[in-house]
Formats: sequence, structure tokens, C-alpha cells
Amino acid sequence: MFNLSDTIAAICTPKGAGAIAAIRISGSDSWEIISKIFAKNTQSSALKSQHYFIHMQALYGHIKDGDKVIDEVVVLPYKNPKSFTAEDVMEIFCHGGIRVSEMILNVCLKHGARLAHPGEFTFRAFVNGRVDLTEAEAINDVINACTDKALHSASQVLSGSLKNKVQDFRNKIYSLATSLEGTIEFPLDVEDVNREELSSKLKFITDELEHLIEDSSEGRVLREGIKLSIIGEPNVGKSSLLNRLLENERAIVTNIPGTTRDTIEEKLVLQGWPLVLVDTAGIREHNMLDEAEEYGIQRTKKAVEKSDLVLLVKDLSKQEEHDSLKLYELIKDKPRIVVGNKVDLIESNGKPRACDVEISATQGTNVAELKLLIIEKIKESIKARSNNTSIFVNERQKELLVQTKTSLQFVMEQSKKEIPDDLIADELKKSISKLDEITGQGVNDDVIKNIFAKFCVGK
Ligand code: GDP
Repeated sequence: MFNLSDTIAAICTPKGAGAIAAIRISGSDSWEIISKIFAKNTQSSALKSQHYFIHMQALYGHIKDGDKVIDEVVVLPYKNPKSFTAEDVMEIFCHGGIRVSEMILNVCLKHGARLAHPGEFTFRAFVNGRVDLTEAEAINDVINACTDKALHSASQVLSGSLKNKVQDFRNKIYSLATSLEGTIEFPLDVEDVNREELSSKLKFITDELEHLIEDSSEGRVLREGIKLSIIGEPNVGKSSLLNRLLENERAIVTNIPGTTRDTIEEKLVLQGWPLVLVDTAGIREHNMLDEAEEYGIQRTKKAVEKSDLVLLVKDLSKQEEHDSLKLYELIKDKPRIVVGNKVDLIESNGKPRACDVEISATQGTNVAELKLLIIEKIKESIKARSNNTSIFVNERQKELLVQTKTSLQFVMEQSKKEIPDDLIADELKKSISKLDEITGQGVNDDVIKNIFAKFCVGK
């Protein structure tokens, strides 16, 4: 896939001006390249001794292109296998300008390094056994985590929690398979495996697998955000509510343009939960009364289809219009909260009104309650049952866990019949191969390519 014998280099800090930028070099020529372009001070010639490299001592000096000094830098050498890639690695820390880091990268390339592909450093760490595939994927999740929860989960996987769990499943299944094989090879010496006992051990494993699979929906929400739309008739206070929700909450990115104007999205974190507000701006800009009624409904329908949760806003100070019935119809199968707005304009008559929460978007009344309701609904809709030790698997890992579970359930079915032990043992081994794919053994190149293509250059 990638040529492993090349020495590769890339800028591994984001593009833009900053205090420091870093350029990473990995491969067997790393030291040679540094010794050609680095001088311990501007006067001295290149480094001769490998002492610093072998003892992994930080070096202070200058990067030069021939006689021309490019920048004052610190170089951190890592001798294999004690590096991120388990190869010889050099990290150059220079001033954080776009041009200076590009010039340093170019001089590395001029002296024999090749520009690294996205994710190629992590790919080498994987190939060299520094990390398994779950840990490699978690590196990307740590980088992309937008919330504390997402970060916590990703760092746990990076520390090996999923790898260990999968290893534990593997050991248990392997031990069952070998005990079955033992009875085949040495039928006289080994007692028959009790099929009921086998089934109950497999049931225990499939239950544990099921927990991991269930938690994955929470993982998806943490990675991608829960999609929430605010809908309602014109002037009920949708944009006022949106602004109120964004207040005091961290907006991650605003106005990410979608493929059409209909799919403008805004992201925010609500008490640790990432939310993506779907199409609110689109609905807000257009007064449905001014447009063909059908068009307004179609726009709302699109937003609702994309959402995991819908807030239907109504104006408590007004009689509901005929249109609102259509809105109720649109959201009847969705997790939803009916928000009665403008409570400040009405007198309490003691009678409950047809909504889940009464708020005033402009005055802020009961907005905290609404936020709690939103969180409650999110947890309900993803069946969140996680605690701090939960592992949130991604879609690829989930698919393999489902296949492992299906395969074990098949064995449980078969074990009730008069099927020979060796066939049962074979089936158990098939499920082991699915678990191995989670950690990266026997995975085909395309899958690996896909995983590392999601990384940024320099990682
Ligand atoms: P949208 O068309 O549904 O997005 O509605 P807007 O948010 O633009 O609000 C329409 C009008 O209602 C504006 O004049 C707001 O100031 C007003 N409004 C919104 N929420 C409230 C509220 O809770 N109380 C009162 N009194 N006015 C509100």
C-alpha cells in the first residue's frame, strides 16, 4: 500500500501562523537527513556524531539549506523502536509560520525524504506493531473529539481498552474451541465437552458483545452529534429559541454549508452532548406564509427526515393555525419535544397546555428545563446506558462484533443438535477471525486504506 522502505516527512501541525510548528521525519535515513540540514549553531558544520541521536537528547540549533539559515529550531531525535512509528524519527520544532515550516519540509525532501501520505506515520506505527487497529482508529478519534465525553471514550480505546476486551473474548472462545478439539484428538483421554455448559459460556460472551454493540449508538452520537431541528410556524420564536440555546453553550462550528441551502447546519455542545442543528437557518429565513405552502412543508419535511430529535415550537399566545396539524403529522414518528413559547405573554389559567415545556425564548424562562428535556430525549433515543468505563465502538468495529455474535449464536443453536465437536470448533474459530479483524489481523488492504485515508497529513 505505502512503500515502507522510504523515509517520510510531513508538517504535523495545522497550517497557519502560531508559536511553534513541527515537522516529523520517519525512516532509516532520518538521522542522515538531519545531519545534512542541521547545525548546532549557525557557524558549525553539520552534526557528525550520532551520540545525541542514540541518547535521544534534544538538540538546539539551526536548519540550513546549504549556507542559508532557514530557522532556529529544536530537534527531538527518537531512536527506533522508541518512537511513534517504532522507526528512527526526528521531530523538528521551528517557529510557527507557514513559509518557514514549508521551507524546512522542502529541505528534508531535497535530502532524500518523501512527502508522507495522510495517516502514513500512524500506518507505520500499526504495521510495526506499536499500535493495533483499534488504537490507530482511536488516535483519529482523539484528534477529532469535540466534547469531553468523546475525548474520554477515545482515550480509553487508545489506552487499549477495546483491544484488551477483544483479546479477552478471543481467549475465551479459543479455549472453548481447543477443549472441543481436545475431545476429537484424544477421545479416550479427554472428557466430552458438556454442551449445556458450552452454551451457557457462549451466552455469557454474546451478552457482553451485545452491550458493546448497544453502546455504539452513543458512540455515533459522540462522533457525529445528535441531529436536532427546530420547526414551527412563522413567528412562533424558532430563531429566538435557537439563539437562546446557543447562548452560554459552545458553538463548535457555525454555518457549515451543506450541499444545498436547505441543509445549513450549526454545531453546539449542550452539557457535554454534541448537537447538530439541522436546517434551522433555512426554515428561519423563509416565511412559510409568503411561499407556496407546499414548499414550506417540503423544507420542514427535509429537516425532520435528517433529524434524530425535533423541537416543535408553538406560540402559546395565539390560536394554532391549520398548518400546525401538518407539522404534527410530519413528526409523529420522531423523538420530539413540543415547546410552548411566549409564556410571558399569557396569563396562567391553571390548566395544562398541550406542550411538553412552556418557555419564553426572549426572557429565558424555563430554557434550562428545556435543555434538560433535550438531554433526556437524547439519552432515551440512543438508549444510553453507559458509564465512565463504556467503550464506544465505531461502525466498522460494530459490524464485526455483530458478525461475531451471529456466529456464536449459530454455534449455540448447533450445539443443541447431534453435530460433531470438530464442526462446532470450526465455527468457533470463524468467529475468532472476525474478532481479529477488529484489532487489525487479516484485514484486507482496502479497509486499511480507508481507515488511514481519514487521517490528516503528518499524523
Ligand atoms: P421565527 O419566525 O419562528 O423564527 O420567530 P422569531 O424568533 O423571529 O420571533 C418572532 C417574534 O416573536 C419576534 O418579534 C420575537 O422577538 C418574538 N418572540 C420570540 N420569542 C418570544 C417570547 O418568548 N416572548 C415574546 N414576548 N416574544 C417572543
